[in-house]
Amino acid sequence: MKIFSNRAWLPSGWRENVRVSLDQGVVAGIEDNATAGAADIRVDTLLPALSNLHSHSFQRAMAGMTEFRAAGQDSFWTWRTLMYRFLDHLTPDHMEAIAALVFMEMQEAGYASVGEFHYVHHQQGGHPYDDRAELSTRILAAAAQTGIGLTHLPVLYSYGGANKAELSGGQLRFGNSVEDFSELLGAVEAAMTAMPSDTRLGIAPHSLRATAPDDLAEVVSRHGNGPIHIHIAEQPREVSDIVDWLGERPVQWLLKHQDVKPNWCLIHATHMTQTETASLAKSGAVVGLCPITEANLGDGPFNGPAYLGAAGAFGLGSDSNIRISLTEELRTLEYSQRLRDLCRNVMVNGAGSVGKTLYLGAAAGGAQALNRKAGKLEIGCLGDLVAIDSTHPQLCALHGDQLFDGLCFAADDRVVSDVWSAGCHMVKDGRHIQRDRITANYCRAIRDLTNALNA
Ligand code: ZN
Repeated sequence: MKIFSNRAWLPSGWRENVRVSLDQGVVAGIEDNATAGAADIRVDTLLPALSNLHSHSFQRAMAGMTEFRAAGQDSFWTWRTLMYRFLDHLTPDHMEAIAALVFMEMQEAGYASVGEFHYVHHQQGGHPYDDRAELSTRILAAAAQTGIGLTHLPVLYSYGGANKAELSGGQLRFGNSVEDFSELLGAVEAAMTAMPSDTRLGIAPHSLRATAPDDLAEVVSRHGNGPIHIHIAEQPREVSDIVDWLGERPVQWLLKHQDVKPNWCLIHATHMTQTETASLAKSGAVVGLCPITEANLGDGPFNGPAYLGAAGAFGLGSDSNIRISLTEELRTLEYSQRLRDLCRNVMVNGAGSVGKTLYLGAAAGGAQALNRKAGKLEIGCLGDLVAIDSTHPQLCALHGDQLFDGLCFAADDRVVSDVWSAGCHMVKDGRHIQRDRITANYCRAIRDLTNALNA
């Protein structure tokens, strides 16, 4: 397959009339100042596509259900209560239909791949399915339906809170000991043999509060060669719970007790001291920022200037999937910084384009976190590509690097025309090629689920 673009962003900068060849999912050739062939797919502006590094796809179905205030209660923890109630009714069919919609929406928003941080493993009440990997295989099936590049991240979730509190209620569907978790990973690996070759497997010890120091050490030593993702320091109460239990703040504790390297991805890392921020940047790990969800849940703003100043790696995730929009994710990150610091153009080192810093930083960090050779348009990289339409009214006044700024601040996802995931052309003219079928399945699943919730 050959793509001809009026312009493309290459590692060497903007180039005109760029012809890209894709072979077996990989970028096999790039020519600039080229002439289009008759069979080429024509697009306007071609960019490396981002990886969405953090998603819990099932939570998409709760979007809009938790935006009311119950008397005296309005916190992250009340949101979690509804999430647990939801889990009482969620079936494997629902899970697959919801994940397929979510992955499709991600591709239509311009993401080529996703890291699915997958923590619902068991039946209601906590009994494993006959196939331990039943729900993981539903995530794999959803990825196969949509063609999105998947890094599957089964979650180790053993405790209901800090200091080995027992699991209860909705949490029972998450629970695994390290032994059970190893068994689950074996079953997932077997199921993955049927998936495309760019599918990746990692692990996700859920958080310090849902694991324990000895379990964390064990699971990392057994299975820690690929991506390791963990939620950390999202909420002040989580920080104080960990200080009370382990005597140190979460990021401080993790950096001291684990060999945190570039294959680690710390999700949120919202509440950090300056010292934690600098040490985390130095580790080479990726911080997984989820700006829309963090704003929705009232988590707080990330310590962006210090982290970027220390050359820390970062990527973007849509986490709760309350809204899936790449452009909005980018600007919510920058706006959270502006609102806190009372100034403009925060997320850039020195002088330069904020949009370009955010977009290319998230492209590199997301690929690193998902263990994909992607995030740049270069020979030998996966064909994770997005085309945007610079003639769209939202962008047509902009040129060069301003296109990144337009994407971040002035546009919505309607400017995305095409997306390739590992060379598969899944979004054409702004529509996923399976949209009708995936949407119909989703609507059916939601009808069933809401009927059960309201019964
Ligand atoms: Zn999360």
